[in-house]
Amino acid sequence: MLDAEFFRRWMAVTAASVEREAERLTALDSPIGDADHGSNLQRGFTAVAGALEKEAPGTPGAVLLLAAKQLISTVGGASGPLYGTLLRRTGKTLGDAAEVSPEELATALRAGVDAVMALGGAAPGDKTMIDALVPAVDALGDGFAAARAAAEQGAQATTPLQARKGRASYLGERSIGHQDPGATSSALLVAALAEAAGE
Ligand code: ADP
Ligand code: MG
Ligand code: MG
Repeated sequence: MLDAEFFRRWMAVTAASVEREAERLTALDSPIGDADHGSNLQRGFTAVAGALEKEAPGTPGAVLLLAAKQLISTVGGASGPLYGTLLRRTGKTLGDAAEVSPEELATALRAGVDAVMALGGAAPGDKTMIDALVPAVDALGDGFAAARAAAEQGAQATTPLQARKGRASYLGERSIGHQDPGATSSALLVAALAEAAGE
């Protein structure tokens, strides 16, 4: 079973990983965006880690709702409301249970990813974070490590795609040949989940 501490660890590992990879995320956002994805997420997840340390919410759902609130209020870019929605819907779906099973987390994350697709209008293949998140959720039934591999593969598979949503879509065919920054950060989020689980 996964308790609040597990979810706080997931967010803390994500914050550390975003911090470590911020330059790479911003570099990916340079040819097909506005070169701010790394700094956007660094600001957001630093706020998430700080708030979680200060308030230490006692249930998985409350951890994710607090993290979502921080992302929505501190990240200016498109990714803030999108990641905020992912964590908010996932947290709401988990409700106020003190512990959740990996299966319940998989179901809740599926609802979270669906909410991101509803908000942003992106489908798989549009060269967005969805291209890492959907394969990750599909693989979650096979364990956290399988989800991590699927997310990483999904992020890499965005390179030959033409962007159909977000800022990169303004470039049309010129968006082809670059890995999507948001899919890359989503792979970090899923890798952090596996690391928090000790996998
Ligand atoms: P901004 O484009 O506002 O500067 P960021 O650079 O922080 O925001 O985030 C860009 C990432 O957000 C993209 O690489 C993409 O993965 C994701 N993204 C943008 N628009 C959408 C959307 N409509 N649906 C899903 N993901 C999106
Ligand atoms: Mg950007
Ligand atoms: Mg921006």
